[in-house]
This record gives sequence, structure tokens and C-alpha cells, in this order.
Amino acid sequence: MTLIVGLTGGIASGKSTISAYYQSLNLPVIDADLEARLAVQTGELAFEKIVGHFGSTILQNDGGINRKKLGEIVFANEEERKALNNIVHPEVRKRMGEKQKKAIEAGAKLLILDIPLLFENKLHEGCDKTILVYVEEEIQIKRLMKRNKLTLEEAVARIQAQMPLKEKCALADELIDNNGSIDDARMQAKSILQKWHVV
Ligand code: ADP
Repeated sequence: MTLIVGLTGGIASGKSTISAYYQSLNLPVIDADLEARLAVQTGELAFEKIVGHFGSTILQNDGGINRKKLGEIVFANEEERKALNNIVHPEVRKRMGEKQKKAIEAGAKLLILDIPLLFENKLHEGCDKTILVYVEEEIQIKRLMKRNKLTLEEAVARIQAQMPLKEKCALADELIDNNGSIDDARMQAKSILQKWHVV
């Protein structure tokens, strides 16, 4: 039996920090953001469909997708954002599904799915357990401003565009309180898996 664990957070809550920690322990992690980047690489089906829909002006000199330009188009236009998601999401789900199948077939005890929009996209329904990396908004704003070099207003706008972390708390099986040090968060991350007898 493979325990499928959904790992999520909010922007700058520390999800990637915990995901990297789990990977450093050699635990199997499927990273949704990474799969999304791989899915739109030159020659992939989603790449062809994106060029078909948005035109070759979204390509950069090396033939790859100009992510900044594409981002500007879709963030300014809801219809285009939906169109892009309709192209990319099925491919990401397919890639993740294939990796998940392999891990299960290989008899893995544990598989961690690192997914930013786990609850928003109802992907927690495919998980046995969920873990949320949680921080107070004040700390979240400070870390986001520092990491992404944003002003206070920009950071607040990005946080407010998401489902409030407090709402996600109610949906998760376990919380990692990341208001303290990274070491403290790592210890919590490990003890959750120990409690579930998968490490
Ligand atoms: P997410 O993946 O949820 O967006 P990250 O893991 O990238 O968040 O963390 C956001 C930022 O905060 C990063 O720059 C990270 O290094 C930093 N960070 C994460 N946890 C802590 C912590 N406990 N103390 C200080 N900085 C932290």
C-alpha cells in the first residue's frame, strides 16, 4: 500500500522548503510546478498547442516559450488564462499520474505530491492524507517581499488573490507551523511521517 500524501501551502508559506527537505531524505516527491515546466518544453504536446493558440510571437529566440510574455497575456485576460490552463492542466495531470502509477507499482510505502493549488483544484480528493505548511500572514508577507523583491502592496495583493491559509487549515489533516525556524518546521515535517509509520 502506498500512502499518497498531498503537500500544500500558500504563496511563501514554506511549501518548497519542506518539499526540498523531504527530497533530501530521499523520499519520493512529485513536484507539480516542475511537471508543469516540463510539460511545456519544446516539442511536447502542450508546447505545440500553446504555439497553435497564442502564435509564435510568444516564443523566444531559442525556440522555447517566453514564460514572462505568456504570463503577461494570461494574467491580463481571464479567457486566455482559461485557455492556457485547459492546455497545460491535462498534460500535468497525465505526467503526474504516470509517475504516481510507477511509484505504486514499485511498491513505495509513501508518495508525496507537492501541489500549490491542492485544495483549490480538489486534488486532495486523490490523496490519503494532506499536509499544509502554515504561517501567520504578517510573516508570509515579510518572506514573500524578501524572496520576490516585492513592495508591501504587491505582496499583499498576491496573498489576497489566493484562498486564505486559515481556510486551508480546516481542510488539512496535519499542519506544519512555519512561523519559527526552518529546522523547527523540518522536525514537524518528519514527525508527521513518523506518526503515519511511513519513514
Ligand atoms: P513556498 O514554496 O510556500 O512559496 P518557500 O519554501 O519558497 O515557500 O519559502 C518562502 C521564502 O521564505 C523562501 O525564501 C524561504 O527560504 C523562506 N523561508 C521558509 N521557511 C522559513 C523559515 N522558517 N524561516 C525563515 N525563512 C523561511
